[in-house]
Amino acid sequence: METTLRADCSRCAALCCVALAFDRSKAFPFDKPAGTRCRHLGDGYACTIHSELSERGFSGCVYFDCLGAGQKVTAMFPGGPWRDDRTLKPMVIEAFARMRRIHELISLIVEAGRLPLTVPQVKQRRALLDALEYEANRPLETLRAFDRSTLSLQVKTYLESLRDAAREYADGHNRANSG
Ligand code: SF4
Repeated sequence: METTLRADCSRCAALCCVALAFDRSKAFPFDKPAGTRCRHLGDGYACTIHSELSERGFSGCVYFDCLGAGQKVTAMFPGGPWRDDRTLKPMVIEAFARMRRIHELISLIVEAGRLPLTVPQVKQRRALLDALEYEANRPLETLRAFDRSTLSLQVKTYLESLRDAAREYADGHNRANSG
């Protein structure tokens, strides 16, 4: 199954508004520790200041992208509120962190497909994508296995090997823009 990297907040239980920490900065007006509910999160899993996030100093919320991990983890915990459940909440937060990481890696590998890759690089990219898709679609009980896999490292090594292809891509892009 191909992983959706587009966030769909309408199918998510506002995981980012609870799970993530943010520090008071240009992007957020106050500190929020990880695992605590943002004071602007309404009872129905919707942000109560959604239409004025930028004006109120929450550009961090505007630009944050879970890459589809939020709705996927929400679907893993059907049928009940978890925000105030001491047992469920840590599980949801942990699953969200792991799924975000997997989706980020998929996103990087998808982007690499734009580069002028050699045949071996194309094959390697396909293999990594398949392995990541497998991880992204595991049931909850086995999602932890991702921590023990070497996939993150393999993706990093693969991306580092694409430096020449990235340079070639950028040069072509610059030539097209200047011509
Ligand atoms: S301001 Fe709104 S979108 Fe941002 S964390 Fe709080 S509830 Fe979520």
